[in-house]
Amino acid sequence: MEELLRRSEKLTTVGQLAAGVAHEIRNPLTTLRGFLQLQQEKKVLVPLHIELMLSELERINLIVSEFLILAKPQAVHFQQKDVRHILSDVISLLDSQAHLFGIEFDTRFSEHPAIVHCEENQLKQVFINIVKNAIEAMPEGGTITLTQHVVENSVVIVISDEGEGVPEDMLPKLGEPFFTNKESGTGLGLMVSQRIIQAHKGSMEIQSEFGLGAEVTIRLPAGQSINEERSEE
Ligand code: ADP
Ligand code: MG
Repeated sequence: MEELLRRSEKLTTVGQLAAGVAHEIRNPLTTLRGFLQLQQEKKVLVPLHIELMLSELERINLIVSEFLILAKPQAVHFQQKDVRHILSDVISLLDSQAHLFGIEFDTRFSEHPAIVHCEENQLKQVFINIVKNAIEAMPEGGTITLTQHVVENSVVIVISDEGEGVPEDMLPKLGEPFFTNKESGTGLGLMVSQRIIQAHKGSMEIQSEFGLGAEVTIRLPAGQSINEERSEE
């Protein structure tokens, strides 16, 4: 059974998000304080405790860095960029990680430039988040297919994998902040991606058949050059 998700209605307000972050960071902080107090009072910490403390710290670090992507201090810089180049960059970046798991990339891009008006680094981050999820869903290897084409005035990017897929009852939860089924996941990747795509006036959908894989479709308004080409036709 196939299901289509539109997460835009579900986006939480900034206040709810902030409360979520505070909550998620407080848990590892409480653990860290517990261990430190134990050490102060009884001097009983062993290497295993230190290891746990480090992984709690790493968790805080991950949560904070995912949020920094949204709250970029430097001015957001929109430019006309070819999506094909951004996708190629992302593939080169993740190629060696994918190969470790026996994963190959199959790319099918349009022959013509696919220009979008975008903040390149943020868009790159979106594709990284999605391809990483695909890699993490395929521990036994397989193919990740990246398709890109131009329809009407939209640039459409489809990223599909042959991984474990998403159980039907879990589909509505995807993109909720902190929803994750991974031991060391933050559950922020899809939410952050969704917000970035919204800021680009685009849309993002996930479809999945449990056991067969997942497919993420992103639509972005086509940038100036494509419109110009069209009006010249
Ligand atoms: P994280 O990767 O830290 O768990 P995300 O927001 O990136 O957080 O993803 C949230 C959840 O959505 C994942 O934990 C996983 O359960 C599910 N998910 C996302 N992408 C895929 C995919 N390609 N295949 C299967 N499940 C996925
Ligand atoms: Mg992720």
